[in-house]
Amino acid sequence: MSITRLDSGSSTATDGVPLVYTPAVAAATADVYERVRAVVPEVEWPVHAPYIDAIERWKRSRGAVVLAHNYQTPEIFHGVADLSGDSLALAQQAAETDAEVIVMCGVHFMAETAKMLSPEKTVLIPDLEAGCSLAASISGADVRRLRERHPGVPVVTYVNTSVEVKAESDICCTSSNAVEVVESLGVDRVIFLPDEFLGRYVADNTDVEVILWQGHCEVHERFTGDELRDYRKTYPGIQIFAHPECPPDVLSEADYVGSTAGLIRHVDATRPERVVLVTECSMSDNVAVAHPDVEFIRPCNLCPHMKQITLPKILTALERLQHEVTIDPDVAGRGRRAVERMLEVGRGAGG
Ligand code: SF4
Repeated sequence: MSITRLDSGSSTATDGVPLVYTPAVAAATADVYERVRAVVPEVEWPVHAPYIDAIERWKRSRGAVVLAHNYQTPEIFHGVADLSGDSLALAQQAAETDAEVIVMCGVHFMAETAKMLSPEKTVLIPDLEAGCSLAASISGADVRRLRERHPGVPVVTYVNTSVEVKAESDICCTSSNAVEVVESLGVDRVIFLPDEFLGRYVADNTDVEVILWQGHCEVHERFTGDELRDYRKTYPGIQIFAHPECPPDVLSEADYVGSTAGLIRHVDATRPERVVLVTECSMSDNVAVAHPDVEFIRPCNLCPHMKQITLPKILTALERLQHEVTIDPDVAGRGRRAVERMLEVGRGAGG
């Protein structure tokens, strides 16, 4: 594998040596740029293109598949991803490929989910610091303590959690099937972990009593109902589609509430003239590529953890096969069973 490097330039790999934008690189990446030109400024392209070109060659050499969550930046989402979407769907689709290596462009729990469903594959995350405030809000020991406090009450756990927490749970759920999963258990009470706002949304849509945990997504918890009412005043006729990790006053103001996959499907189905997706900022850019006729008003709440992942780090991950995600097989098996129980309830998607 040969990659041209220079001593100076505008983009820098993790070893500090930049790649060069050459006419050959420009030609090799021209079709990608055509797709993303509406959302990636032309001045940025010479920075991204050499990495996109090099990553493509390393993917072939490693027998690797690159997964990108909906919240990744467009140069990753449209530039190098083989599969894109929400966390569980990515892990499920990657498991069905014959790739030997999976590179997860998402956060740590997503890489764990990919490893959990593909134990025989090498799963890499380009930056170990790509965490998640929601997943970090709860540990396996917390779940065991909750079980002691509420004996016999089943634990329903959102997929945005560590494998250790999934392994302590009776069943997992996504943001689109949470109500269905809770009701499938046929009980009066459940413990719902860890997202408080998703749990409140579930409680508002079922007669089952929901015991909540106070975990929050630091991106979605920042939205407010006032902000959305301001959008309605500033942009008459705007449609507001919100993710259920948002606070209740935001969800009550929304025209539609759904998972990331649900938000995309709803844009596809309704093709609004003007819409605001009340979720992480990059998603609007990624969806806009396929919807040039829709005006996306972009609330700029970025996930700092997702943004740890960059093209240079993806390249380094492939070059060095770093950072490999490993999971204790017993924990992985118990986590997988909680996900499989959810899949028996219904083919939910979201995250
Ligand atoms: S957007 Fe929220 S839930 Fe998703 S990774 Fe970032 S902090 Fe976690």
